[in-house]
Amino acid sequence: MMMQPEVSVTHNDTQATLDNMLHETRSFPPSPQFAAQANAQPELGESAATDRLAFWATQARTHLTWKTPFTQTLDWSQAPVARWFADGTLNAAYNAVDRHVLAGNGDRVALHFEGEPGDTATYTYNDLQRETSRTANALAALGVTSGDRVIIYMPLIPEAVIAMLACARLGAIHSVVFGGFSAEALRSRILDADAAIVITADGSYRRGSATALKPAVDEALNMDNCPVRHVLVVRRTGQDIAWTQHRDVWWHDALADADTFHEPAWVDAEHPLFILYTSGTTGKPKGILHTTGGYLTQAAFTHHHVFDLKADSDVYWCTADVGWVTGHSYVVYGPLINGATQVIYEGTPDTPHQGRWWEIIDKYNVTILYTAPTAIRTFMKWGEHIPQQYNLDSLRVLGSVGESINPEAWMWYRRVIGKDTAPIVDTWWQTETGAIMISPLPGITATKPGSAQTPLPGIVADVVTDFGEPVAPGGGGYLVLSEPWPSMLRGIWGDHQRFVDTYWSRFTGRYFAGDGAKRDDDGDIWLMGRVDDVMNISGHRLSTMEIESALVSHPKVAEAAVVGATDDTTGQAVVAFVILREEFAAAAANPETLDALHADLRGHVAHEIGPIAKPRDILVVPELPKTRSGKIMRRLLRDVAEHRIVGDATTLADTSVMDLITAKLSTPASR
Ligand code: ATP
Ligand code: MG
Repeated sequence: MMMQPEVSVTHNDTQATLDNMLHETRSFPPSPQFAAQANAQPELGESAATDRLAFWATQARTHLTWKTPFTQTLDWSQAPVARWFADGTLNAAYNAVDRHVLAGNGDRVALHFEGEPGDTATYTYNDLQRETSRTANALAALGVTSGDRVIIYMPLIPEAVIAMLACARLGAIHSVVFGGFSAEALRSRILDADAAIVITADGSYRRGSATALKPAVDEALNMDNCPVRHVLVVRRTGQDIAWTQHRDVWWHDALADADTFHEPAWVDAEHPLFILYTSGTTGKPKGILHTTGGYLTQAAFTHHHVFDLKADSDVYWCTADVGWVTGHSYVVYGPLINGATQVIYEGTPDTPHQGRWWEIIDKYNVTILYTAPTAIRTFMKWGEHIPQQYNLDSLRVLGSVGESINPEAWMWYRRVIGKDTAPIVDTWWQTETGAIMISPLPGITATKPGSAQTPLPGIVADVVTDFGEPVAPGGGGYLVLSEPWPSMLRGIWGDHQRFVDTYWSRFTGRYFAGDGAKRDDDGDIWLMGRVDDVMNISGHRLSTMEIESALVSHPKVAEAAVVGATDDTTGQAVVAFVILREEFAAAAANPETLDALHADLRGHVAHEIGPIAKPRDILVVPELPKTRSGKIMRRLLRDVAEHRIVGDATTLADTSVMDLITAKLSTPASR
């Protein structure tokens, strides 16, 4: 097996201000064995640096099969709307499925499906070709044609993947709405996209029971002049559901007579592939538009290199739902285009027990795991004795996405899950970027806990000041992308002005990501959270993420969220919300031990960062408010910290969390 790489660990003094906080000196170089077999070799970066556009043209030819080869790489004359590979034609589903069958790999498993109740299904690439073809024919029979918008509102079951690919076969534009969203959220997306069809299921299995999905669709469609003509319904749970004659169609009925052959629609590279509404952590959801050729190129390229995928031997598992962009690029398009074998799991990590994920990894010998910091911190909270009950030796690459990963969580992931050998790739990207932009490359990069580090080959990113000047090493500012990239969004559906205003107005000619970032002395990039979340304490700019990471590095703390609350003396003051690790949770019940804990945590933050960062208030809470994709919603915590009525909490995964937290706040003993 892989040898233990060399590790150097040093502790440095940290100082008071944002600009001086970065002193992470732990570094984990790749093992020589990993480096020797890695897909990513140093020449990759060199060729991108020599000729960026030629590099992307090569990637587009290497990772995709084109019906008509392209001759132009990038047309930026309509900036900020890019056109990549525009005179080429191709089909996304053909690339994800058919060509693997034609290459003789039809018997390879594409999907190992694990349902929450324990039911399983296996789909080979042959199976996917047959099922996506039948579904495409069934959709065509319902009137779906190229360019139509199709809403997919489904649990994470194979039919969700098949539905997306069937749309792509037809040239129809899918818009997946996460199955946990409300009827109201669904309706606004249906209307914004002007969708003709909704594909859904009767229900799904969640936390040990069958929950309903179809009633939300019925409610969403209950309006005048509804654009939706048909609702295609997968029978997943068999529960009773209301039925609207002529509008509603069972998936199994529609597919029963559908032909198993379907000729894919060959579309232009710039033909829209999907619209995906961002989760709405900030403001009204935006319909992010992605097109075909450039998007697929970068999804496949990054999946191949960042995860070091070996199609004939790896078993890959990305835990994201297809309702998020991660599920689009790294469950559906990236892995399938690369011919991967992957696992998809319908349910929650604690059903029926807290070892479910590790049991799945053990069962399928998963080699590559891609998940989010929120999951890792939850597992830390539950305790490492749980994963230790399973054999995780098959794992060889670990990925993280969605938020900055706190260095402590990174170290836990590496030690407990990766057995100190599997490289960790902390991948920064957004719905808007379509694919990974900043990440270590396993086999090349010496990784650092908590840093996404370097733009991938072919990507040009920078950290700039208010005036757009690059920051000096050690400095903080705004993350920008300075050159167009193949999988960049082509716009906001129906709102070109908002596209220009949101991303292209802050810094001329450059894409503004909305995230704060820093460069360390080695030039590596650290993501500091959303620009809106940065605090100003007595004139010092402090990052919520860094104080959270300091709190999480305390042995008793599992999770932390930090906000800035208005303060008469300091302008803003740090207010911290912490979740304790399970074995220490009892301490929070006793006012005396709680006081000692507060003092201890304040001292710890002062030691890790500096006295200026010490929280004014610390609240021990049972849960934190998170979006359905697992991100902390600091906006709501700011309301609590400033004793305001809590704002719109409808995008929360669990709306009762805010009640628990406000109840806590009103009990003096909890302060
Ligand atoms: P909305 O834009 O509606 O508020 P969202 O930004 O949460 O929603 P996504 O596009 O899924 O929706 O998330 C992208 C954001 O997630 C990034 O802008 C960044 O803030 C954060 N993010 C993603 N990956 C990382 C990472 N590896 N490190 C730090 N932050 C990350
Ligand atoms: Mg965003």
